[in-house]
Amino acid sequence: MSDGTLDAVDRANAVQQVAPPELWDADVDESSGEVREIHRRAACSVPARFTVLASSSSGNSSAILHETDDGLRVTLIDCGLSPRRTNKYLETLGASNECIDRIVITHFDSDHFNSGWVNAMPRHGRFVIHKGHRGVAGRRGALTRRTDIFEDRFELAHGVFGQAMLMKHDDLGTAAFRFDFAINSERTASLGYATDIGSPSQALARMLTGVDVLAIESNYCPVLQEGSDRPIFLKRRIMGGSGHLSNSESAAMVRAIGPRRAVVLLHLSRDCNTPEAAAVEHAPEIDAGLYELVVASPHEPTDVIHLMTK
Ligand SMILES: [Zn+2]
Repeated sequence: MSDGTLDAVDRANAVQQVAPPELWDADVDESSGEVREIHRRAACSVPARFTVLASSSSGNSSAILHETDDGLRVTLIDCGLSPRRTNKYLETLGASNECIDRIVITHFDSDHFNSGWVNAMPRHGRFVIHKGHRGVAGRRGALTRRTDIFEDRFELAHGVFGQAMLMKHDDLGTAAFRFDFAINSERTASLGYATDIGSPSQALARMLTGVDVLAIESNYCPVLQEGSDRPIFLKRRIMGGSGHLSNSESAAMVRAIGPRRAVVLLHLSRDCNTPEAAAVEHAPEIDAGLYELVVASPHEPTDVIHLMTK
């Protein structure tokens, strides 16, 4: 797949399509039914920060950090790192596994869901999973009374609104997300998260349009992939539309989405990609100052990115 072909693959790829989130509430006079005032929903406990703890086929996990009256709270997106390694990384950010309130799962491949979390989840913590993943979640021990199930729209936490779209990836698909943070009456922030999405999608690009921060996979360089000594079936699986995005497909998605502040490239193949090959696809946008580019590492957390400007 090359640039500019999003529409061509879209019909087959996007399972769902949803409109932008509704962050507005109406204040209605109960006796007359008249709308007195329309205002944004109540503030959530942000400012929020975002970091990719690590990302590769050996393990993926990202963290949204919220400052609250009770201290620093954590939402993980995927838990493909061991609990011990996750705790080590969170400690560098002033948090720990005990601060985790919820873990949102994109899908249940072992590089996104480490089974150690079934026992390591804090007592108050909740798994948040897509409806289509209930079966696999049950088999992996993540379907309990502390599991929340979403389909397309959901309130992740107070004032944090999630939208999900199930994308083609292997058999069960992967959930891609947009999270909108209603900070106060004037300020919002948004985060897009799309990994293991199979192929580019115009519908997903629409859902993620104009997010402040976009984390998106940029898995492989086609030249390195073709030239690798990987078995043919694996190359087909990765490049066949239900595996991963190449660097150019990822960059085409970024252009279609138009993120406002920062792009974080996820899930680079260690055999078939390099940070330089992934980054060069974004050179015109970086030169033009359109966004900051961060390439996630398999080995260490990225710098923390503020989801809202001060
Ligand atoms: Zn993966």
